[in-house]
Amino acid sequence: MSPKPAEDRRYLMPFDTTSTQQLFTDCLVIGSGIAGLRAALEASRYCDVTLVCKENAADSNTWNAQGGIASVLGGDDTFELHIADTLRTGCGLCDEDIVRLVVRNGPELILQLIEWGAEFDKIDGHIDITLEGGHSRARVAHALGDSTGRGIAEALLRKVRNSPTINFIEHFYAVDLITDDAGACIGVIGCRPNVGCEIIWAANTVLATGGAGRLYRETTNPRVATADGLAMAYRAGAVLRDMEFMQFHPTTLYIAGASRALITETLRGEGALLVDCNHKRFMPEYDPAGELAPRDVVSRSILDRMLKTNSTHVYLDIRHFDKGHFRCRFPLISELCESFDIDVSTDLIPVRPSAHYMIGGVRTDPSGRTSIPNLYACGEVASTGLHGANRLGSNSLLEGLVFGKIAGVTASRQVNHGLNQIRHRMKIEIPPSDRSRLDTGDIVNSLRAVMWRNVGITRKQQPLTEAREIVQFWQRYVMDKVFDDTVGWECQNMLTVSWLMACAAEQRCESRGVHYRVDFPETDPAFATHIDLQRPL
Ligand SMILES: Cc1cc2nc3c(=O)[nH]c(=O)nc-3n(C[C@H](O)[C@H](O)[C@H](O)COP(=O)(O)OP(=O)(O)OC[C@H]3O[C@@H](n4cnc5c(N)ncnc54)[C@H](O)[C@@H]3O)c2cc1C
Repeated sequence: MSPKPAEDRRYLMPFDTTSTQQLFTDCLVIGSGIAGLRAALEASRYCDVTLVCKENAADSNTWNAQGGIASVLGGDDTFELHIADTLRTGCGLCDEDIVRLVVRNGPELILQLIEWGAEFDKIDGHIDITLEGGHSRARVAHALGDSTGRGIAEALLRKVRNSPTINFIEHFYAVDLITDDAGACIGVIGCRPNVGCEIIWAANTVLATGGAGRLYRETTNPRVATADGLAMAYRAGAVLRDMEFMQFHPTTLYIAGASRALITETLRGEGALLVDCNHKRFMPEYDPAGELAPRDVVSRSILDRMLKTNSTHVYLDIRHFDKGHFRCRFPLISELCESFDIDVSTDLIPVRPSAHYMIGGVRTDPSGRTSIPNLYACGEVASTGLHGANRLGSNSLLEGLVFGKIAGVTASRQVNHGLNQIRHRMKIEIPPSDRSRLDTGDIVNSLRAVMWRNVGITRKQQPLTEAREIVQFWQRYVMDKVFDDTVGWECQNMLTVSWLMACAAEQRCESRGVHYRVDFPETDPAFATHIDLQRPL
């Protein structure tokens, strides 16, 4: 690729294998969301597994997922319809074989989740399936009302904790993937409280570190989603694909000072309307599907309406809902509204869009392999080819489940037992920096504002170039430093990935899926292809 980062670093921290604490494992899984948990469970059938996550097990996008998981589970739905909906939403960039693979494997893996204790909501003894925007049939299964992610993660976590072949380590911050002279992944260097730096040597490593929503000022993502896995993989030389495609969720609760809690689009599936600050319904003016138009269309329409009405937000109107049903079906949102004194039977819910899902990621093949030998990726950190240029709602939990299993199989069946016991000798040194030190907290806040403004829902050449140049400026003062805490490493990772996203968005001079260029509003067949980024070796 053409532009070069201001500071090109292979490792963020120096280390010497002769003096660093070390662990050995057949298969290392980084991340405890749906993808990592499912990968660890699968791999543990064939070899010993070490599973790490950077905070508590529950700190993940998975735990926060509300609406549900999409799959063909009954009614008049068919695999072909789910495949067609996914391909249509992906705007020409989905890999059809991958779409077929994921859709066809969905029902069986969801039934397995139920066997493992996940309790999906039922109606008359059958899984209750809901209609969501972009889907032509009702196919979204939900658990605990609007806490589907927690319902699934709890079942997977119980199984992981009971597995004798999984060593689960929480509060392990993975800093960098370690590669040998041939470029193959041989483990990870990380840190944990009370232990300090630690190397985990692994015959195979599965990256399941989730997304990058925290690169934006407005986001639905929890604190852990700082793009660490994407940055680590980039430094190690992996190919990253489709980094310009960040999906924005149209409706997050907008209360100044409060965190941006997501208001699931299942609400719109069940009849919620969007109205502007004059209480006028506007979606039919933008798309015939109205409130059920795909996410990117709804997000852009809301943004346009906010501009036209000079307002910071729009509203969801559910005043016509049965209050009892709402409380039962959406307990999380009901509680959230009550906590802000919003009475949904008389009041409107203030909402605006925010960064939600990283479509791009580490490029993988149908077996979950990345371009780096012995490194696999699954879940939001991966670019499998399922989503193309736009993700169909509720397809990401499904992707994590299916590709978690696939990556777990590939990474464990190919374990060359004994390889993990090799004690590699490495000494990485980093010269001290002579440039000034900037406040990393300040940079992170400013970076998130720049990404929101310049690499947001709508984009244009000049602001994109400015964003890339501003990030490059910060990189000069941050990437040359050695930090010994997560705040510093996260700042370095966020700068790296923001820079990659701005570069890719600059290169895609067209509008496709979630990537909307005001200066190139049409889809251009010449760009019906992926943008791959790789660190120059
Ligand atoms: C509010 C919200 C609602 C959503 N609703 C839905 C929905 O209804 N349906 C749907 O399909 N999708 C939904 N999504 C998207 C979906 O939740 C995610 O795409 C999916 O859960 C990602 O799973 P994952 O396993 O890839 O990553 P995550 O669940 O995000 O897990 C990532 C893991 O990696 C760990 N990690 C990260 N960095 C490091 C590091 N440096 N060292 C060690 N560990 C690290 C984290 O600690 C975490 O354990 C929603 C997302 C959000 C935020």
